[in-house]
Amino acid sequence: MRSWSIPAGRLFGVDVRLHLTFFLLPLFIFWTESTAHAGNANPPRDLALTGIVLLCVAAHELAHILAARRYGLIPKAVILLPLTGVTLYDEARAEKPANSSALWVREIRLAVVGPLLNLALASFAVAILTGMGHGADLWERPFLLPANFPRSLVWANLYLAGLNLLPAYPLDGGRILRALLSRTQEASAATGRAVSISNAIAMVLMVAGLFSNNWLTMIGLIVFSAAQLEERALVFQSVLDSVRLEEVMLTDFATLSPADTLEDALEKAVHSLQDDFPVVRGSDMVGVISRQRILDALRAEGNGYVQAVMNKIFEVCARQESLGSAFRKLTSRNASIIPVVEDQRLVGIVTLQNLMHSMALLAESRKLRREGQES
Ligand SMILES: [Zn+2]
Repeated sequence: MRSWSIPAGRLFGVDVRLHLTFFLLPLFIFWTESTAHAGNANPPRDLALTGIVLLCVAAHELAHILAARRYGLIPKAVILLPLTGVTLYDEARAEKPANSSALWVREIRLAVVGPLLNLALASFAVAILTGMGHGADLWERPFLLPANFPRSLVWANLYLAGLNLLPAYPLDGGRILRALLSRTQEASAATGRAVSISNAIAMVLMVAGLFSNNWLTMIGLIVFSAAQLEERALVFQSVLDSVRLEEVMLTDFATLSPADTLEDALEKAVHSLQDDFPVVRGSDMVGVISRQRILDALRAEGNGYVQAVMNKIFEVCARQESLGSAFRKLTSRNASIIPVVEDQRLVGIVTLQNLMHSMALLAESRKLRREGQES
């Protein structure tokens, strides 16, 4: 999910990442500008215009983030592409709406705020232009001109609103389409439909661009990349929700006893790959302890008993719980191990390390299976 993008800081508590195609935009503008006005290109102004477009994209995403928060949806990350962004929500954590009609209405509302914000910015820029007495400039070509920022601001925002309303998932128009499709079909089928429509649109744009305007090819490429990103996030989500813990838990693991000394515990830890250990008395789970905690306690207070330093408050999971549920328990408590119990008997453990590993493997094996079905 994270490949092809690099971290670029945080905005309102959300990780912002730049998709590698992001850097194509300045290059692309320089290229079209320098071929259009050979010899009199103005790099600083070109760069400033690129900056303006990127800020409008960021403002658009910000509108989505703030709207999502009102619905209790916590965005995990925003990946900025040159002319749009993909906001990845932590859907596992979101409160589910009361019924499915509330769900599609929410989707549509969340989708339209982005383009609406761009329309608002465009009207604002029109007001500036007319205020300056240059209202007539608006219709002069080229619409985007580094020499005329207010006019460029109007058109950049109109283009962004228009582009994002294309019914190409995961652009906003495509999200609206998916929401409408989901009224009559399963969510995953609706998404699959929307992604295929999106890929078809991307193809048409890329090919059409080759014969007319290079921008179309560029947009096709962006739509295509965005759909790939989203699809991977969805595969990840479906793995989280459909895989049971019994399928991935570790059943071959070492345990400690509360009566073990810390030195014994360390000795056991040395011979195990585990970083975290369940502490059991007889067949009862009584605590958890990490290798690091053992080391820290030994350093600080010398030898003692596991009982005294183990963590006695911990979450447990049942075999049938989903990976998503275990993941939420791990992250909400900042824990790194969850014992899996059945009738209060320890039957397995799930650690953050092993969860990450198995999710990657499962996502990969599902993809292989799906590709096998398609071909
Ligand atoms: Zn949007």
